Amino acid sequence: MTQKDYYSILGVSKTASQDELKKAYRKLAVKYHPDKNQGDKVSEEKFKEINEAYDVLRDDQKRAAYDRYGNDAFQGGGGGGGYTGGFNFTEGFPNFSEIFEEMFGGAFGYGAQTGQQHAAQPGSDLRYDLSISLEEAYRGGTTNLRFSTLVRCSACGGSGSEGSKKPAPCPTCGGRGSTRYNQGFITIEKTCQTCGGSGSILADPCKKCSGSGRIRGEKNLEITIPPGITSGGQIRILGEGEAGFKGAPAGNLFVVVTVLPHKVLVRRDNDLYCSVPISFTTAALGGEIKVPDLDGNDNVVKIPVGTQTGTKFKIKGKGMPILNSSRRGDFYVEVILETPVALSKRQRDILENFAGEKDDQTNHPQSSEFWKKLKEWIG
Ligand SMILES: [Zn+2]
Ligand SMILES: [Zn+2]
Repeated sequence: MTQKDYYSILGVSKTASQDELKKAYRKLAVKYHPDKNQGDKVSEEKFKEINEAYDVLRDDQKRAAYDRYGNDAFQGGGGGGGYTGGFNFTEGFPNFSEIFEEMFGGAFGYGAQTGQQHAAQPGSDLRYDLSISLEEAYRGGTTNLRFSTLVRCSACGGSGSEGSKKPAPCPTCGGRGSTRYNQGFITIEKTCQTCGGSGSILADPCKKCSGSGRIRGEKNLEITIPPGITSGGQIRILGEGEAGFKGAPAGNLFVVVTVLPHKVLVRRDNDLYCSVPISFTTAALGGEIKVPDLDGNDNVVKIPVGTQTGTKFKIKGKGMPILNSSRRGDFYVEVILETPVALSKRQRDILENFAGEKDDQTNHPQSSEFWKKLKEWIG
């Protein structure tokens, strides 16, 4: 390994500040960028050098190691693989936008990119519509999803390459994965049509997937439904969308949940409501009704003497679980007075007897109040 002087490559002194380094790097990177110097091997080498130098010097730890040990600090590993982090030189060059993101702190995560591929076309996000019962929304739990999508090719492991032959840089885009042209003052960047954005051309494309690294297949996933999920709620499952092109990252899966209507219970926010018809005798004389909740337990609701229709009784903490909390909504039981129909002769007699009884004004306070108001109104 020849020793490279990173400071002189960037044209700065050994004591240069981060600001000075940044300025020097930016100036040189723009000057030697391959886009400006198509096919110029010297510029290309120079550009690589500049990036390598800057990547080391901008990192205080790496810089300290370099100051002490020189290039040996970075070139120890297995045959040129010792240099990691920062831009990826094996498949292409950082493009202008990457340089500027580097300079201005755009959080695009290029530094964290670990795959061999350049920013290739990731898989699409997928949406899966899932209908569940109110009981399932209440309990939560797991369910299986089965769907057909593009999955990673098992024959090539997603690389798209048949054998061990390394892919070659794409001749159209020079390995960048994108092409750009100027329109007035604006530079337009497009995904390269030749390589589909991967930046490389396969020497020996996989026969099973024709080199795309993905094939149509069936996915069978177990997903977890959180208790208390609402209709329209989404569950995001990272990396379970469509497989990426030539090993690029997969998309995400969005499970959009619809909670189906329940036969008896109605949900409003986190509360549950149940309308229960009761006889007018139960309402008048008092009694008890049993109402089941979503746990399947009966709840005894005491009906006081003289209960009116529409009265709601609250059963605390028996509503829906509240998402991401251990609390629960409440369960409201509303009683509806049912007028008896299809009376037998005897029932009719009893009711006629009842109706014949002298009606004390205190028996029907609502009626008394109403007629009194009506009289005041009409005069
Ligand atoms: Zn394949
Ligand atoms: Zn290309």
